[in-house]
Amino acid sequence: MARPLLLSLLPCAACAAPPAGDAPLVLLLSLDTTRADALACTAAPDAVDVAPRLRALAAEGSCFTRAWSSSSTTLSAHATVMTGLDAHGHGVVRNGSPVDPAAPRLAARFVAEGWHTAAAVGSYALEREMGLDQGFAAYEDHGGWRGLFGLYEVSADTVTDSALALLDARPAGKPTLLFAHYYDVHMPWDSAPDRIRGRFVDLADPWRGDRAGIGQITADAKAGRLDPAHQARARGHYLAELAWVDEQVGRLLDGLAARGLDDDLLVVVFADHGETFDEEPARPYSHGPDVDVPILHVPLFIAGRGRLALPAGAPKVDPEQARLQDLGTTLLQLSGLGGALGSGVDLSEPWRGAPLDRPPNFAEATKPIEQTRADAWPNLPLERAVVSDGHLLTRAPYLGTADALFVAAPGQAPVDDPARAAALGALLSAWDAAAPGHRAVELDGGTQAALEALGYLEPSAP
Ligand SMILES: [Zn+2]
Repeated sequence: MARPLLLSLLPCAACAAPPAGDAPLVLLLSLDTTRADALACTAAPDAVDVAPRLRALAAEGSCFTRAWSSSSTTLSAHATVMTGLDAHGHGVVRNGSPVDPAAPRLAARFVAEGWHTAAAVGSYALEREMGLDQGFAAYEDHGGWRGLFGLYEVSADTVTDSALALLDARPAGKPTLLFAHYYDVHMPWDSAPDRIRGRFVDLADPWRGDRAGIGQITADAKAGRLDPAHQARARGHYLAELAWVDEQVGRLLDGLAARGLDDDLLVVVFADHGETFDEEPARPYSHGPDVDVPILHVPLFIAGRGRLALPAGAPKVDPEQARLQDLGTTLLQLSGLGGALGSGVDLSEPWRGAPLDRPPNFAEATKPIEQTRADAWPNLPLERAVVSDGHLLTRAPYLGTADALFVAAPGQAPVDDPARAAALGALLSAWDAAAPGHRAVELDGGTQAALEALGYLEPSAP
């Protein structure tokens, strides 16, 4: 998979001035691994103000308090955003398993309507070989670096540099869809400079949020010896990464303003999935094996200006169920292109006064991989979930435990409601019964090494 270095998109001080901002811009921002309780309208009441630029953006538009992901890992969840299909629809088994080439693509819909499309992604997990580049006229995945330097992710400042360079290289006068993916909040937590990190942790503390440090607190949490100071410093390092991303998103927004591109602007901000902290002693500081509230509940907000202003009925806070699966259709509608992507619904329809049925949100985990099936859809034994009508039901066939019903909200309080559990369980069974057949996952040596470096292939026995 080696590719030449992609240095052509680095900022160029001597380049010609960018074209004037005469066409609309749709900005799709992904904040990888960002928990809902860290950001915007879903931030915990006692949360420190980690991300002021993102908070201001959320306050300008509509912020969803009940937004749900389709998966516990990066590629599957992003494939849902880009295809409007759930994990069974787009065919991604796990990271390293490409998106079904026949699945619809959001970017292709924009291209068909005469838009320019560009993407800057921060992680090897979304490298172009995974098929999310389909439909993008330009797709900067920095993948050519990994063969030389062993890099599997790039820092937020590089993503912002790439995004601005892509905007400067866009065809003059064309409306543009730009996707930017910030990966820093994903472990290891080592991107934020000390001037930011020092706001959240004691820099004299030798503990670092690198793989060794996170491995240590994971072992401590599993052994029940994680003390409050260690819990706090882990959260501090995690939040420092989000503060760093916020600064770089702010630099991107300033860059848009400097180019006159923020007059007719639609911005959608989401996370692909969350992260467990110490609230899950069996699987702390991770994502992959679980599809419950800390993993599936994600921040989501939409803001619009000028010709891309939100409908007049858009509320500041939207408490209705929203799915990552619905983002594509909603973007098509708010951008004026119309139609639907995959089986997503238009979340902005109620803002125009129309009723909207909220489809259930289905999700499945992608670990532990040694539990996958070789004779059917591989992930059927792994934990799965359905979210509907304010409740979340999980089922873990590989563990053989009973279905568990929770309030679909932070804290995931258990609910004793057999009738509701049976109804949601039937939905989940029907979803699985309609799953596609077996899909082989073949990882070459480079992909295997990359996924191990990013923590995706750690075996986790039941
Ligand atoms: Zn992710």
